Amino acid sequence: MPKSFLIDTSRCTACRGCQVACKEWNELPANKTTQSGWGSHQNPQDLNPFNYKLVRFSEHLDGEVIRWNFFPDQCRHCVSPPCKQVGDMTVENAIVQDKKTGAVIFTDKTRKYSASDFEDIRDACPYNIPRRNAETGLISKCTMCNERVLKGMLPACVKACPTGTMNFGERADMLKLAEERLATVKQSFPQAMLADPEDVNVIFLLIDEPKNYHDYAVAALTPVRPLDRKEFLAALGRPFKRIADRLA
Ligand code: SF4
Ligand code: SF4
Ligand code: SF4
Repeated sequence: MPKSFLIDTSRCTACRGCQVACKEWNELPANKTTQSGWGSHQNPQDLNPFNYKLVRFSEHLDGEVIRWNFFPDQCRHCVSPPCKQVGDMTVENAIVQDKKTGAVIFTDKTRKYSASDFEDIRDACPYNIPRRNAETGLISKCTMCNERVLKGMLPACVKACPTGTMNFGERADMLKLAEERLATVKQSFPQAMLADPEDVNVIFLLIDEPKNYHDYAVAALTPVRPLDRKEFLAALGRPFKRIADRLA
C-alpha cells in the first residue's frame, strides 16, 4: 500500500513553514523574488526549479465577504502518473515510481529530455507541476522526501507544519482521515470536497470551490496544450481517463 498525504486546507494559516522546510531539506538555493503587491503575500509567484512547495494565496469576493484561501501546492504523486507515461516514450525510467511508497521521482536522467520533451511532460501533468532548470536541463519537483520516508521519517513539510494541515501515512489511513475531516468540515462549509482522491497520493481537502484556490487545484479538465487523439491515448493516465470518460 503506498503512502499518502492529506492536506487539510481548512487548517492552513499560510505560515509557509512547509515551504521553508522543503527548501532547507532539499538544499535548494534562494531565488530572487519580488513582492507582487495588490494584497497578496504569495512569494514566489509560481513553482520553479528551486521551489517544490509553494503556498498559493487566493483572495476573492463571496457576496460581500472577502475569502482568503491558502493552497500549499506540490506534486500529487499520481497513482498512475501521466508525466512518467509521456516521459518513458523518449527516455525510459528517467521518471520512476517507488513501489514501496508510491513516490514519483524525477531522476538526474531527466537532463536527457529536450526542451520540447519537457513541454510534453509538463502538459501531461494535470496539475502543472514539473519545472525545468534552463541551465542544467534538470526537471524537478517534490520528491515526497522519499529518502526520509524510507527511513520511517515524515516528509520535511509535514514535520514542520504546526497546524495539522499536512498529514502523512499509509494511504488507507489518510483516505479514512480525509473522509472523517470532510464530514466535520462540511458542517461549516457545505461545499467542502476532496480533490481527486482516487487518482492521487496527495489529497487536498478544499472548503471552497477549486477555482477559488488555483487553476490546477483539481485535475485540469483540458490539457494546457490540446493533444490530438493519438497523443491523448498515449498519455492516458487515470486523471486523463476520467476526462476521456467525460468526453465520450
Ligand atoms: Fe499551511 Fe502548515 Fe504550510 Fe503553514 S506549514 S503554510 S499551516 S500547510
Ligand atoms: Fe507527475 Fe504531475 Fe502527477 Fe506529479 S502531479 S506525479 S508531476 S503527473
Ligand atoms: Fe518538499 Fe519533501 Fe514536502 Fe515534497 S514532501 S513538498 S520535497 S518537503
